[in-house]
Amino acid sequence: MRIMLLGPPGSGKGTLSERLEKELGFFHLSPGQLLREEVKRGTSLGKRIASYIDKGHLVPTNFVVEMVRLEMRGKKKVILDGFPRNREQAEAFADVKIDLVLYLDVSEKVAVERLSGRRVCVQQKHGFHVHHFPPKKKGVCDHDGSSLTKRKDDAPAIVRERFLVYRKETQPVIAYYRKKGLLREVDGNRDPGDVYREVKRIIMMGAPRKRVQKRK
Ligand code: AMP
Repeated sequence: MRIMLLGPPGSGKGTLSERLEKELGFFHLSPGQLLREEVKRGTSLGKRIASYIDKGHLVPTNFVVEMVRLEMRGKKKVILDGFPRNREQAEAFADVKIDLVLYLDVSEKVAVERLSGRRVCVQQKHGFHVHHFPPKKKGVCDHDGSSLTKRKDDAPAIVRERFLVYRKETQPVIAYYRKKGLLREVDGNRDPGDVYREVKRIIMMGAPRKRVQKRK
């Protein structure tokens, strides 16, 4: 099963994907993470990538599409976290069979609050939140013991730019997949556990559970 996961910055895509990987065996493919790893290597390619990420802009489509195609090769259960990010990327993937597109709908207020408290480990694989999802030991990653830091692009000015890019470039992608009948919307303003359980149900059942009214 191949799932695309869309949503604004701070909508909880990474948190949800980590859990889908751990509990349901999905391969978590995050272009953002792969790009940051290249930046960390300090290569000349990494420096070029950083010039986009540090401004909150999208990395050029050709490069990202090629990278995602290579990474997902041979993988049966994949979650594409934050891909596609614009119409061009979606169209470049029109030949790839996708089973489901999940859209995590989150208000900008909630998303900004989440980003301001977000911490990631220096391995940059695991995410935490100072209030909503704190690590067991302050400043230390529960998973690999490395120290926790703020992402450079979570600075308020960059976050504002990322939202502008999201509204202009990524929102049209939601309409694109809705039209294709692949889209499922999930209210991402809730507790991450509730979001996970709803997504799990969608994956298992192929459709969101009907809300059953409790009798009084
Ligand atoms: P994320 O980790 O998904 O929040 O992405 C962080 C940054 O990586 C974005 O602001 C972009 O600069 C870049 N990025 C991530 N995914 C993509 C993508 N699909 N296309 C272009 N740039 C991306």
